[in-house]
Amino acid sequence: MPIKCNTGCQRNAVLKRPKTGDALCKECFFWAFEEEVHHTITTAKLFTPGNYVAIAASGGKDSTVLAHIMKLLNDRYNYGLKLVLLSVDEGITGYRDDSLETVKRNEQQYGIPLKIVSYEELYGWTMDRIVQETGRKSNCTFCGVFRRQALDRGATILKVDKIVTGHNADDIAETVLMNILRGDIARLQRCTAIVTSSEGSIPRSKPFKYTYEKEIVMYAYFKKLDYFSTECIYSPNAYRGHARAFLKDLEKIRATSIIDIIHSGECFSVREGVKLPTQATCSRCGHISSQSVCKACVLLEGLNKGKPRLGIGKSSKFREHIGEDTDGPHGGGLALNPQTSSNAPDRTAVPHTNIEKLTF
Ligand code: SF4
Ligand code: ZN
Repeated sequence: MPIKCNTGCQRNAVLKRPKTGDALCKECFFWAFEEEVHHTITTAKLFTPGNYVAIAASGGKDSTVLAHIMKLLNDRYNYGLKLVLLSVDEGITGYRDDSLETVKRNEQQYGIPLKIVSYEELYGWTMDRIVQETGRKSNCTFCGVFRRQALDRGATILKVDKIVTGHNADDIAETVLMNILRGDIARLQRCTAIVTSSEGSIPRSKPFKYTYEKEIVMYAYFKKLDYFSTECIYSPNAYRGHARAFLKDLEKIRATSIIDIIHSGECFSVREGVKLPTQATCSRCGHISSQSVCKACVLLEGLNKGKPRLGIGKSSKFREHIGEDTDGPHGGGLALNPQTSSNAPDRTAVPHTNIEKLTF
C-alpha cells in the first residue's frame, strides 16, 4: 500500500521530509519548502519593494535553488524586486570555469541578468596561480577572504541594495560549531545573523537560514534544476570537514540538531568586559576591516612580495612588516579599488559543500 501524503491531499507520498519526518507528495513538499523560505524572508523583512538584489551564484545547488526561489517568490508574492546574478570567478581551471557555464545557463533559464567578477581582474591573481605559489594548505584562506571582498566589489559595481547568499541551515550550524571549537567569540555572535551589514557595506542576507541542505538537494532533484555538483579541486578544509561529519552524525540521531545548534548560537551572549573587535576601514584599500589593514590586503601583499605564508595565521607580524616598508594608504603597489567590503563575518575560508547522494 503506498503511503498517502501527510497533508491529506490524497496523493501518494514520494519522500520523507528530512526536517520534519513528514511523508509528502512532490507538490506538497514544493509548497512547504517555498512557503518556509517566504516566511523567513517576510518575518525577517529582508527586502522592501523596489530593492535591487544580487543573488550570489556559484552554479552549485544552494545558489541555483536560491535563484529559482527568489524569482518564484518575487513573482508569486509581488516582492517588487529587481534581481541580478552575481558570480565570482576564482580562476580554478576544471572547476569554476565549468560551474560558470551552469550559471550562464541559469541566466537564460530564469531570465535574470548575470555579472561575473574575477580574482584576476580584481587582484591580478587566479586561484590556480595562488596554489602554485602557496601549495594546497592555505588556499581556502586566500580564496574565502578574496571571495567575500569580490562579492562586495561586484555588488558595488552593480549598485545593488542587497546581496543574498545560499548559506543554508547546515552551513550555519557548522559555523556555530567551528566558532565554539576555535573560541572565536566575535564570529560566534555574528554567524547566526540572518542579515550581516556594517556601515558602508551592502547588507547580505541568508533566505535559507532555516532550510536544511538535504531539502535543498531534494528540491533541486525533483524540480530537475540545472546545477553543478562537482567539488572544488582544491577543497581540503579538514577542520570544517570534521564539523560537518559531526553534524551529520547528530542529524542522523535527531533531525532537529541542526536548528537546535542555530538557536543555541543565537542565544550566546558575550559576558561584560570581553573585548570584541570593532569595525573600521582598511587604511590601504578603504574596505571595512576590524584591523587597520584588511585581511585581503595583507594576503595580497604577501603574494605580491613572494612571501605568501606571512599573511597566514598570526598576521600581526605581517602587519608590522608591511607597516615598515610600504607607503601608507593605497601604497605598496596595491591595485585595490576602494569601494565597499568587509572581511568580517561568516564563512571566510570555507570550501563549498559537496552534493550529498540521497536515497529516498
Ligand atoms: Fe576556494 Fe572553495 Fe576551492 Fe577552497 S574549496 S579553494 S574556498 S573554491
Ligand atoms: Zn584592504
